[in-house]
Amino acid sequence: MVTTTRVFNFSAGPAVLPLPALEEAQRDLLALPNVGMSVLEISHRSKTFEAIIQECEANVRKLANIPENYHVLFLQGGATTQFSMVPMNLLPPGAWADYIVTGSWSSKAVKEAKKVGAVNVAFDGKGENYVRVPRADELKLSKDPAYVHITTNETIHGVEFHELPDVGDRVVVADTSSHMFSRPIDVTKYGLIYAGVQKNLGPAGATMVIVRDDLVKKAAEYRGYANLPVMLQYGAHAAEKSLYNTPPVFTIYMVGLVMKWLVGLGGLEAMERINIRKAEKLYAEIDRTGFYRGHAAKDSRSRMNVTFRLPNEELEAQFVKESKAAGLDGLKGHRSVGGLRASIYNAFPEEGVDALVSFMQEFEKKNG
Ligand SMILES: *Cc1c(COP(=O)(O)O)cnc(C)c1O
Repeated sequence: MVTTTRVFNFSAGPAVLPLPALEEAQRDLLALPNVGMSVLEISHRSKTFEAIIQECEANVRKLANIPENYHVLFLQGGATTQFSMVPMNLLPPGAWADYIVTGSWSSKAVKEAKKVGAVNVAFDGKGENYVRVPRADELKLSKDPAYVHITTNETIHGVEFHELPDVGDRVVVADTSSHMFSRPIDVTKYGLIYAGVQKNLGPAGATMVIVRDDLVKKAAEYRGYANLPVMLQYGAHAAEKSLYNTPPVFTIYMVGLVMKWLVGLGGLEAMERINIRKAEKLYAEIDRTGFYRGHAAKDSRSRMNVTFRLPNEELEAQFVKESKAAGLDGLKGHRSVGGLRASIYNAFPEEGVDALVSFMQEFEKKNG
């Protein structure tokens, strides 16, 4: 049977997009108003695309109040390429970087950084199966690192920093892929922020990088920088405003529509209020009786990726199967954690959280 009804999509990424953004893209897919061509067909050097990327960047800047001395870039290769590009640009020969490891993604970031330079792991939550962020007194920061890398929301384990740890005047580099713009962000606290857009900002195909200009300039002075492949130089992309080569035109267009939606909603404070409400509803149900168990420690629980277990793996498999049949898609947890994961990004509707809570209550009644 063919169905075009939209289910509740709990996928961790690529993930649910705001309906108004999808509807506008659908309406204008064959011909952009007054252009007569699809956004899929236009040149990235055209006036039309120039306007699209400029409006997108303007809304990103407005949403996060980004100062002039930061570049906003749309790059390719995913957040994974940033695992290498960050140290290639910011970790000069003879220097080292501190990494805070709170889950699978930060652990992958360390692995790639080690191929480029020296790494000091300032915290590693692996021994506890990545259930929490570090306390201030556990962070073993080095004296003079090139930067401190942090993964502010661990998508797989569902562990989120609700406050940036105090790292003094060290430069912070953050992978914010899975909660970017889910709450207000003070960009001035960071040297570089990167986020694969397919979690919370748009469809797959681009990575948003927000980087301070002095770091881009400093990188260009390092011995060996000129020999870096040009696609891996922040300076090249910054100089050409993300148009050094052909950018993912359609993805940037979609990110632009999502940014417009966020601005219309009232910006990041408004978005955060909605996200808090959605997450609280779901965690309240997880905590209600003890049948469900949250993976992350309470103070480290992610508002975006809610990870939880059931009494045994058979029940977990049954839950996945029956919830899918009930129109709740994508709840199976990542294989490295097991259990369930409900990704409830910005665009995930509150009715979907209510539907999941009702389903959980019914499921517990039948199987608890
Ligand atoms: C998904 C994800 C990545 C990897 O992103 P790609 O764009 O697939 O390379 C990295 N970090 C975090 C936190 C993620 O959620």
